[in-house]
Amino acid sequence: MHTPVLSVRDAVVEYPGGVKALAGVSLEIRDGELLAIVGPSGSGKSTLLNIMGTLDRPTSGTVVIAGQDVTTLPDRQLSALRGRWLGFVFQQFHLSEGLTATENVATGLLYAGVPRRQRRTLALTALERVGLTHRAGHRPHELSGGERQRVAIARALVHAPTLVLADEPTGALDTANGRAVLELLTQLNEEGTTIAIITHDRDIAARLPRRVEIQDGRIVTDTTADRDPTRDRTGAVGVAP
Ligand code: ADP
Repeated sequence: MHTPVLSVRDAVVEYPGGVKALAGVSLEIRDGELLAIVGPSGSGKSTLLNIMGTLDRPTSGTVVIAGQDVTTLPDRQLSALRGRWLGFVFQQFHLSEGLTATENVATGLLYAGVPRRQRRTLALTALERVGLTHRAGHRPHELSGGERQRVAIARALVHAPTLVLADEPTGALDTANGRAVLELLTQLNEEGTTIAIITHDRDIAARLPRRVEIQDGRIVTDTTADRDPTRDRTGAVGVAP
């Protein structure tokens, strides 16, 4: 029914000095999913994110994105693939200070082969999706933390990626803004975007339909909750079966 948008198979990442940051991880993400990859500091989350995002290659094992084994692709092809299929959201937003919200979002189209004229229109549409039309001309320093993260989310979405990878997206926000960002990501997922959220925060993970728990470089649990539409979507869905 759902085709995998990303599969990691038997991934091992060994750093010089013998640290095994990933000790054989297999993970499949299907179209339309919203999942948390959750674990304590040092468990291997960033390493897993880096290989899923094609920013790093595993020492052994494979990563398949949209049907293509990316572990053997040359760097140039990798960045094209990244620009086309993946969107990234970071804890610290990584917006360019000198650019307006619209211009920041439009940078998400630079590697997607979209003609210049269309970039602005698509950027404005993405800003509308995250509820920031009224901030389109503002620069990052004129925005709140929550608004900055919404701009970053719009940038991650603007080229309609197959998968959005969000690395601790609420980590730099206060509770209220963090909750709002999580609700936004949930809403975008309900509209069809596949999203993986990397977090150390179990409360955040508990609010998502699927939780993949990682410890010492291994997946220790992978739990999918029944989606119950009668429940509050930010409520505690997801009692382990
Ligand atoms: P997390 O994101 O869950 O905090 P990481 O993926 O950053 O975990 O790290 C997993 C393990 O790999 C840790 O033991 C960490 O110290 C080690 N590690 C991460 N990056 C490097 C590196 N560049 N060189 C050596 N060891 C590393």
